[in-house]
Amino acid sequence: MALHRTTIAEINLSAFRHNIKLVKSLVSQNVKIMAVVKADAYGHGAIPCAKAALSAGSDCLGVGIIEEGIELRENGIEAPILVMGGITPDEAKDLIRHNLSVAVFSAKHLDLLSIEASRQKKIAMIHLKIDTGMGRLGFSTNNFLEMARMTIKNDHLLLEGICTHFSSADQNNPGITLEQLKKFDSALNNMKEAGLDLPLIHCANSAATLNFPESWRDMIRPGLILYGALIPPQFPTRAPSLAQASFARFQPVMKWKTQIIQIKHHAKGTWLSYGRKYKTQRDSLIATLPLGYADGLTRLLSNKMETIVQGKRAPQVGAICMDMCLIDVTDISGVK
Ligand SMILES: *Cc1c(COP(=O)(O)O)cnc(C)c1O
Repeated sequence: MALHRTTIAEINLSAFRHNIKLVKSLVSQNVKIMAVVKADAYGHGAIPCAKAALSAGSDCLGVGIIEEGIELRENGIEAPILVMGGITPDEAKDLIRHNLSVAVFSAKHLDLLSIEASRQKKIAMIHLKIDTGMGRLGFSTNNFLEMARMTIKNDHLLLEGICTHFSSADQNNPGITLEQLKKFDSALNNMKEAGLDLPLIHCANSAATLNFPESWRDMIRPGLILYGALIPPQFPTRAPSLAQASFARFQPVMKWKTQIIQIKHHAKGTWLSYGRKYKTQRDSLIATLPLGYADGLTRLLSNKMETIVQGKRAPQVGAICMDMCLIDVTDISGVK
């Protein structure tokens, strides 16, 4: 017996490769691409996506946690990989053993990585992270210069990159991102003035890639747009041609498919599903799908999403259940 559900997530790797090539064509030629494949490539499958990204011209890969980096190494991927979320002290050994680069935001970690690298007779690859306003990870701009010096003069450490992360590049307020960029630049300037060479500079996520060309620098770190998650062009006055043109051309990589398991007529005024969150406004034809929050379809989308049935949009209605949900197919003829 063939055991497979009719509910599947179909991944289109050629759409993914198309998106990588598109983002590459949008930025200047000398800008490197770090395809972000954290969280199992945003749910699309880390290994196939990482391989596809590299084959389409991504220079390196970004992951969130060390396990993700090790998984890529164990599957034969030799390209540079940056563990963007940093490591815990006991992960230094595995990091260096697997030739992974890591974002560092504490002096203690620099010491630790140096000790472990010398023990393994290797060099730890470091990207120093500056907190310019995200408030999550990074050195403050005040003590950054000292950390850069410490890294550069340590023979067991290689300063590969310097980075920051934007909090609001997708918001309708460019001032926030420009302010972050200004702080970043002043930290970099301090380094230059101190006579230190700058390594690879990177800061742009997807939204900044589309909205802030001045943030591209040596490398960009797109995630969302590579998977076809649309980032609407927010600032028609900032990078209009770039954002508008690219908006339509990124292709969705995932298609979620399923089959209807039952269709029922319900009279006008009938309550549907848990908690009476939806009442039919007319005599309705309602279809049940074998797809629910156990599959990752968040309950927060109850009554707020649409499905496509025979090429037409059918709204989801009522609370989304654990492994089922309901859609209104009254307006779609010939549904089976
Ligand atoms: C997730 C992440 C990215 C990618 O962001 P998107 O918005 O998905 O493009 C880039 N950099 C860092 C540090 C991240 O954590």
